[in-house]
Amino acid sequence: MDDVLIVGGGIAAHTAALYAARAELKPLVLTGTGLDQLSTTSLVENYPGFPEGVQGPDLVDACKSQAKRFGARYLPGDATGLKPVQGGYEVVAGSSYRARTVIIATGASARTLGVPGEKEFWAKGVSTCAPCDAPLFRNKTVVVVGGGDSAMEEALMLTKFAGKVIIVHRREEFRASKIMQQRVLGMEAIEVLWNTAVTEVIGRAFVTGVKIRNLQTGQAALLACDGMFLAIGHTPTTAWLAGSGLALDAHGYIPGVVTNLPGVFAAGDVMDPRYRQAVTSAGTGCQASLEAEKFIEHRKAAGTYEVAASR
Ligand code: NAP
Repeated sequence: MDDVLIVGGGIAAHTAALYAARAELKPLVLTGTGLDQLSTTSLVENYPGFPEGVQGPDLVDACKSQAKRFGARYLPGDATGLKPVQGGYEVVAGSSYRARTVIIATGASARTLGVPGEKEFWAKGVSTCAPCDAPLFRNKTVVVVGGGDSAMEEALMLTKFAGKVIIVHRREEFRASKIMQQRVLGMEAIEVLWNTAVTEVIGRAFVTGVKIRNLQTGQAALLACDGMFLAIGHTPTTAWLAGSGLALDAHGYIPGVVTNLPGVFAAGDVMDPRYRQAVTSAGTGCQASLEAEKFIEHRKAAGTYEVAASR
């Protein structure tokens, strides 16, 4: 039985692994077969310590190498289940792995529209992260899709750079909090297209426009723009935890670093619907690892470390 098992392959998982390895807990990291979010972005300019920015995949690889240097072990495997066993937990990812503590850092994926051109122009004008990419759209026209608080935040942030921001929303009222709506609707640089859906993204090397359709009249149009920001929600990767007894919030997120299951901790976007930044993911990875270390120490002090594991 390992001391620390980390499930995930993003910056939260690698940071947790780094801290656990330096605490000589020899963490085992089960990385899924898909790519983490940061590895699918290009230049990251808001991660401290890189004045010229850093490529997302390079940042993730560097964090992984750093964790490995201190003894973190990595295995590929998509986790499909977690259950309590004597002295700890068992995670199934093809094979079964047992550990006294588990750190869940399985992330979340930004929802996409699934329209033609969206994949093709991903990171070529299509983005899900205004804090990351807004500066690329100085004096340009951008579309924001969505009507929740995230869409409002993205739109407001984009006004700092873009010349014009057009929110495309599928209904005739926003879901966002009133105060966020008021801020958005009071901005001259923001236009709203109600009852409208994006049906296609078009461009050449980069986005040049989106095709839209009015959902009430059915009228189609071409909207010239330089970028499209999706803010239609995220889906936390927690389906695999069904039946584990781990408490999730109403949106399927793990509600904090310390969970309701003793010895199970969470880090990164799987427990953070709000900030979702590389630096905050790394931060919660650190927190989760320190909590796991404290948990192991308590068990050693209480004399339940070996007993519970071998009974
Ligand atoms: P959200 O509240 O679920 O809003 C998603 C928006 O995207 C909704 O307006 C929804 O439209 C739209 N949408 C969903 N699927 C779509 C599709 N296929 N095509 C077009 N539009 C689609 O998600 P969120 O804005 O990311 O917020 C998530 C949670 O974080 C919320 O609880 C929010 O309050 C919170 N949050 C808070 C803050 C803040 O307090 N500053 C900032 C960000 C997020 P409908 O309205 O028609 O369903």
